[in-house]
Amino acid sequence: MAAFDAVFVGAGINSLAGAALLSQAGWRVCVLEREDALGGCIRTTSDLTRPGFTHELLASWHPLFTGSAAYAELKDELDRRGLEYLNTDLPTASAFPDGSSAFLTTSLEDNVAELDGHAAGDGAAWARMFEEFMRDADLSFGVLGAELWSPGGLDLGRRALHRFGRRGLLAFLGGALVSCRDWLGDTFESDAAHGLLAPWVLHTGLGPDQATSGFMTQVIACALQLGGMPVPKGGGVVLVDALAGIVRDAGGEVRTGADVERVLVSDGAATAVRLADGEVIRADGAVVASVTPTQLYGTLLGEGEVPADVARAASRFRYGRGEMQIHIAMSEPPDWAGDERLARTAIVHVTPGLDGVSRAVNEADRGLLPAEATIVCGQPAAVDPTRAPEGSWIVWIQLQELPGGRVKGDAAGEIDVGDGSWTEQLREAYADRVTERLGRHIRNLERATLKRVALSPADVEALNVNLVAGDIYGGSCALDQNFLFRPLPETPGHRTPVDGLWHIGASTHPGPGLGAGSGYLVYKELTKPALPRRLLSKVPIPRR
Ligand SMILES: Cc1cc2nc3c(=O)[nH]c(=O)nc-3n(C[C@H](O)[C@H](O)[C@H](O)COP(=O)(O)OP(=O)(O)OC[C@H]3O[C@@H](n4cnc5c(N)ncnc54)[C@H](O)[C@@H]3O)c2cc1C
Repeated sequence: MAAFDAVFVGAGINSLAGAALLSQAGWRVCVLEREDALGGCIRTTSDLTRPGFTHELLASWHPLFTGSAAYAELKDELDRRGLEYLNTDLPTASAFPDGSSAFLTTSLEDNVAELDGHAAGDGAAWARMFEEFMRDADLSFGVLGAELWSPGGLDLGRRALHRFGRRGLLAFLGGALVSCRDWLGDTFESDAAHGLLAPWVLHTGLGPDQATSGFMTQVIACALQLGGMPVPKGGGVVLVDALAGIVRDAGGEVRTGADVERVLVSDGAATAVRLADGEVIRADGAVVASVTPTQLYGTLLGEGEVPADVARAASRFRYGRGEMQIHIAMSEPPDWAGDERLARTAIVHVTPGLDGVSRAVNEADRGLLPAEATIVCGQPAAVDPTRAPEGSWIVWIQLQELPGGRVKGDAAGEIDVGDGSWTEQLREAYADRVTERLGRHIRNLERATLKRVALSPADVEALNVNLVAGDIYGGSCALDQNFLFRPLPETPGHRTPVDGLWHIGASTHPGPGLGAGSGYLVYKELTKPALPRRLLSKVPIPRR
């Protein structure tokens, strides 16, 4: 029987980063992935459209990874293995139906001027927001980087209390609960500023009218100015291969086609995993599962191996909206109507504005295809020209406002949704609506399209079992399932009721994205010095 110090279930970013860090710390690690490719949501492919075009089938943009604690520790080794990040000073813009647009750059001065151009005073409001956010950024980013139910989480709370006092802390927490709509309305005058920032709330799994969506919008807005929109040169596969290489070179194993069907438990502790083909792999130190709570407590563990209330809560874990991807190979660069900077911007949101995002989210929540979805139009070749042959282009489109289950109807009353399942016909009809709308902004879109490939929410789930019903964020990020409550209030954080079994991935704190946060937190926990050494390290050493 093969035996390792740690066995990871799944090879997404959290597993790969956690496994690489543990390998560097001297652990012998095994990573088991059921698909035939590593990387989970990082899926770079060169045979989707035309030869020479490199597409990110799912996740594309790496600001969360380049800003992460995992990257800070692994950077030198990843550099040595050929990982190179390319960036842009034009991370995002919104293009509105009347042909106008608004931009967010990596320069504070330029952002002040841009927003002032839409409404006098909005520039100063931006500068004030940025300054105030940065003053307490250690707390805001800290919440997203700490194990909240731990001494580290408590320290964060103590620091906040010390800084703000009791009343001040209450005001700070109250501010963090505000919706994106209320925060935008309180902060900026112009519809353009609202329409520039509101679509970003979709990238946190929320809608603009939900609690905490104002806080998350600020986090993203500041992160965009600070970090731009980096992508790995050549695609995310370079990062995935480099992380897997670190594990293998340290004597570990990284396998594809290895479907874990059971975590084996003995005397309340995880001791091994069993694959679908019957092979058993021993884990002497830890089993780390990057799966949904539904899978972990529903099938990987047996009945009676966890408390009944945990199993019951896991069966009620909620998933969020569905998502569609559209990939287009173009024979030439996009001819955007309006501002020429749109063709140089990494992510352009084509949107009617704040109310448009709100309406589309609401329609999706009610099971409808939105009449006027937010088109997240990513342009990877604007940042990394190696993604397409010279003189040509790729477009990476996300549609994050789709029903998270059966489609009940079309809000525009145009598309026959049949029995509500994602047939090829329904997928292509909806993709047609979206590309037709985008074609009003990118004037050469139809003429220059070489090939279009759409993935429905059902197709997205088929690529990665963790993306239930096409929810790309591993479970609803509504407040009752986020932060202190993720993945489940009955077992928050990353420890599970089974000794030696750890839960990581998008379904756990700090949630979705390529930040590798949960993999990093579990690595830190597993490599923490034993208690006597920790206590000894606090004893002051007398000076001679
Ligand atoms: C379409 C899309 C676009 C996105 N865009 C971005 C973006 O641009 N930037 C960003 O920061 N984030 C983006 N995200 C979110 C981000 O990619 C994910 O939140 C993140 O990658 C999830 O990582 P993870 O570690 O949870 O594992 P995942 O990437 O979900 O991978 C988990 C892996 O575990 C495997 N697995 C599950 N069960 C088993 C089992 N029993 N046995 C073996 N293997 C198993 C799965 O096959 C999968 O490969 C996007 C997500 C999607 C889907």
